[in-house]
Amino acid sequence: MTTASRLTDPAAKPRVGIFGLTGCAGDQLQILNCEDELLSLVERIEIVDWVMTKSDNDNHCPLDIAFVEGVVATERDLAALTAIRARADTLVAIGTCAVWGGLPAMKNAISRDVLAREVYHADTAFLDTVEARPASDFVRFDHKLPGCPIERGEFLKLVHALLSGTRPELPRVPVCWECKTRENLCRVIYFDEVCCGAMTRGGCDARCPSHGVACGGCRGPVEAPNYDANITMFRDRGISWVEIARRMEHFSAPAWMKSGLENEVTGGRKR
Ligand code: SF4
Ligand code: SF4
Repeated sequence: MTTASRLTDPAAKPRVGIFGLTGCAGDQLQILNCEDELLSLVERIEIVDWVMTKSDNDNHCPLDIAFVEGVVATERDLAALTAIRARADTLVAIGTCAVWGGLPAMKNAISRDVLAREVYHADTAFLDTVEARPASDFVRFDHKLPGCPIERGEFLKLVHALLSGTRPELPRVPVCWECKTRENLCRVIYFDEVCCGAMTRGGCDARCPSHGVACGGCRGPVEAPNYDANITMFRDRGISWVEIARRMEHFSAPAWMKSGLENEVTGGRKR
């Protein structure tokens, strides 16, 4: 039986693995937080490999779906990720670290030696860290679910879409769109704050601005963000693009660097 038919066959229990590379395990915790839905979910799937929740894991069997959280920050991460890809028919990146690099990639511009010395102050020979990069830079992912952490509703929708043979879709609108539908007072227009909502993929229902806090961009860039319009909007309010860039870097620094906008900010100089 092919994986596609195993996923959609109500008599089959697709084998699922959930894994964490370097990260905070917050996305795995969000899956556990689907308390009301978990029991019906495990009637439909078999979780065969998840060290966060069980000790009798099968580390080698083929997987119909594998979920991976975190960045590649060590050679061990890369070996683990490669092995998971080889086992999985459908591979899903969960969380902004796996999709965009997230917080661990924020300080990639500083050398590992300097970071190790500043943090540990002593013998750092035991460290084997490399520059932190999103898991999605290294292997092909079939689906990517951003968020810091992921939204429970989006995770459940994605699983149900896979089990019903349809393709899960992420919201294409920015956080700003959701913010407007909630009739929030705009943090930029009314409070002159640095808010990343116009450049960030929606799906969180504008959680932060709805609580009076500017969006920090934790879901990563929306498709085709209009950076030029944003530069103008912030400049008109006396907010430098450097400020907004630093805020965007918190969660999606590698994407930000690739966009080439750093040169626009710095004129090609290192900040
Ligand atoms: S507060 Fe932020 S997310 Fe909301 S409309 Fe203003 S810029 Fe957009
Ligand atoms: S408003 Fe922005 S920072 Fe807050 S949860 Fe949504 S994407 Fe993340």
